[in-house]
Amino acid sequence: AEPTLGIPQNTIEVLKKYNFSFQKKYGQNFLIDTHVLDKIIRAAGITEDDCVLEIGPGIGTMTQYLAQAAGKVIAVEIDKALIPILSDTLSSYYNVTIINDDVLKLDIRKLVEEENEGKPIKVVANLPYYITTPIIMGLYENHVPIESITVMVQKEVADRMQEEPGSKDYGALSLAVQYYAEPYIVANVPPNCFMPRPKVGSAVIRLTSHKKPPVEVEDEKLLFRLIRASFNQRRKTLANGLKNSPELDVPKEVIMECIEELGRGASIRGEALSLEEFAALCNSISRKMR
Ligand code: SAM
Repeated sequence: AEPTLGIPQNTIEVLKKYNFSFQKKYGQNFLIDTHVLDKIIRAAGITEDDCVLEIGPGIGTMTQYLAQAAGKVIAVEIDKALIPILSDTLSSYYNVTIINDDVLKLDIRKLVEEENEGKPIKVVANLPYYITTPIIMGLYENHVPIESITVMVQKEVADRMQEEPGSKDYGALSLAVQYYAEPYIVANVPPNCFMPRPKVGSAVIRLTSHKKPPVEVEDEKLLFRLIRASFNQRRKTLANGLKNSPELDVPKEVIMECIEELGRGASIRGEALSLEEFAALCNSISRKMR
């Protein structure tokens, strides 16, 4: 079946038929632009061999495109009111499974095990912006097998994901994303491509998972604790950030010695360090703590 939604008139008709009212708390901004939808599907490189996880299908606009291109689609939607609508708009697609749940509470690794024999999936979504970071970090930290994540996010968040050290938007999210994947901004998308219109600009970003992380660390959990601790208190030096972190159980002398070993001076700030330097710091702390 050909996708029918994505054309504003058809979306309006479906919303009217079901007397649907948008829920602000769920970040509902539905796509109403076929060019943007085509672009997302192309950027994700979906083929019949793919199992796709869609987070927040809404009324099924992108789901129709995904179902047409992929072997299988699993769509997780939190809003109960959308479930009967999805059964309707997706009735002619036989490769779609709808799950009515909160994606942050779902065991996605288990789901992938059951639905795709644990083989890597592709994640494609027009994300609810209020939980972009927890969704993406959750997928990575729980080691869900993922080939790529192609998502619509707030423009500013897309920018942050691909920033390098020294830029003002560089932070924990840039480092975390770049540890797991290669980010690429596919397109900027203006508010008029959505209904209702969001207050901010949006962008589609593709995160292609690394075969193996670009840096080697002995203790991945420690790396992420270090990253979070260094950016928790932005204007502080790295030394102060790490010494005052409730998350880190490392003696002050060890922290100071390891920062010294970096060779960037004692007053270096976290936002000046590259992923390689965070990895070096992490490994020298692990060695001293053994
Ligand atoms: N994919 C649709 C589209 O592009 O038109 C809708 C995208 S809309 C930006 C985000 C969707 O995510 C909404 O349908 C919303 O109800 C859903 N959502 C919000 N929070 C969620 C959560 N925690 N788990 C699953 N879905 C959620």
